[in-house]
Amino acid sequence: MAIQADQETVIVETFINGQHVKSLSQLAKENPTNPSEIVGYFPVTTKEQAVEAIEAAAGAFKTWKQTSIDERIMMMRKAIEKIRTAESEIVHLLSREHGKPLYDAHGEIYVSLMWMEFACNEVTSALQEEIKTHENGKTILSYDPMGVVAAISPWNYPIALSTIKIAPALLAGNTIVLKPSPFTPLAAAKVAEIIASEFPAGVINVVHGDADVGVELTTNPHVTKIAFTGGTETAKHIIKAASETIKDMTLELGGNDAAIFLESFDVHDERAMRRIVISNFLTTGQICMIAKRVYVHRSIYDEFVEKYIEAANRWIRIGDPFDSNTTVGPVNNLKQKNVVLGLVEDAQKRGAKVIPLGQILDQKLFDQGYFLQPTLVLDCDVHDPIVVEEQFGPTVPILPFDDEEQVVHLHNESIYGLTSSVWGKEEDAISVARQLEAGTTMINTAAVQGLDVRFPFGGFKQSGIGREYGAEGIRTYTEKHVINVPKTLDLPYIPE
Ligand code: NAD
Repeated sequence: MAIQADQETVIVETFINGQHVKSLSQLAKENPTNPSEIVGYFPVTTKEQAVEAIEAAAGAFKTWKQTSIDERIMMMRKAIEKIRTAESEIVHLLSREHGKPLYDAHGEIYVSLMWMEFACNEVTSALQEEIKTHENGKTILSYDPMGVVAAISPWNYPIALSTIKIAPALLAGNTIVLKPSPFTPLAAAKVAEIIASEFPAGVINVVHGDADVGVELTTNPHVTKIAFTGGTETAKHIIKAASETIKDMTLELGGNDAAIFLESFDVHDERAMRRIVISNFLTTGQICMIAKRVYVHRSIYDEFVEKYIEAANRWIRIGDPFDSNTTVGPVNNLKQKNVVLGLVEDAQKRGAKVIPLGQILDQKLFDQGYFLQPTLVLDCDVHDPIVVEEQFGPTVPILPFDDEEQVVHLHNESIYGLTSSVWGKEEDAISVARQLEAGTTMINTAAVQGLDVRFPFGGFKQSGIGREYGAEGIRTYTEKHVINVPKTLDLPYIPE
């Protein structure tokens, strides 16, 4: 499938039962680097079309669930190869619609394919039927497909957070209706269609829109499972919407991930300083698992801040995502830019010191796009909004702490618990990590630099329900089905 790269306009359509469906209205997707440039158009899927997509998935499920795992793996591997072949075009399209630099867009495909490959390699053992013979006969435990999965993804990693759902859902024998975010509808839809081209019609369907279409996906009785990645507030609506039909759910939500620097951390370790800067500003800070608040032991705090600014000024080069010198692109959308600006201005009003970081490579481009210069926020209170809320953008507060108990408390009092990181002597760091309420804690690194798709990923508390990645990220698309064949058919305590 050819995807127009560079300056051409890309058009995606609602995709139902292997066919593109014309829509009455379309929306334009602008380039965040230059909002006057239209990257492409995407449809407003109607409620009726969303129902049609769900029914197509329900129809396809009847035969798809009977395919063998080997057949499904074979199709998925062919899809992986097709994505590899189209990688360069996908990367350019993703970079234009999202604003992430080319290296970062490549990174997103890299993670997506790594996971899809892992899922292909792992699915047979993850879903291996267990047969146990015991004193009272035989029990069979099988992992059965669930039916129609509604996959709803966000804008920050549109391909990775769609394929994280598509691959295991299909390999486990389900069919799917994907709804990408209206902020990044193009590349995710193209990748979904590339995958769909290797599968029978109706196994993958793609709808577009926002909450209106989302509501159909989360209420329709044919949908048995919701796989959602997005904000915690949206998840509350989804939980309510899905309650009528008691749907299974995997929810990957917001975070306010802390990075904790212990007294034993070496502030002169330049590679480590570079890693924390990247953990704060990769993808312009728009990652669920980015380090969003930094706590540094008071004994090393001043020197840490000095070295941090040096490292940030070296690594952060804000510019055109297509320029290989750029490390940080624009914010994806105006709404998010204003959220981040609002938090920084609020911090300033409360007396915080705001330090701009990095170099702007092209001031004219910077002024025309949704760019924001990354900032470091110092001298704020531990309970200021910039510290306790998810900023999801290019700013980070750095705060001092005095002892382990205090920093563990500050970490755990958050309503979130997605990831965290502890930096310092390994055994000290692991000891602190064990006390933290987070789905993943990384030692001496953070964010995607410490991600391992072989292990379950998800959040404590309001950061989510369930896990993606790992064998668990495949089993989560199945129902456990127990078939009991007892030897003793009559129970002794039930009277004749
Ligand atoms: P969002 O919640 O605004 O939107 C996510 C998706 O939900 C979009 O496709 C949107 O159209 C859809 N949606 C909106 N309202 C809906 C409704 N009522 N019913 C059904 N669907 C609806 O989130 P976003 O701004 O796209 O993404 C940013 C958020 O996602 C951040 O909070 C971030 O932390 C979180 N996130 C979490 C993870 C994780 O793995 N935990 C990963 C990436 C992003």
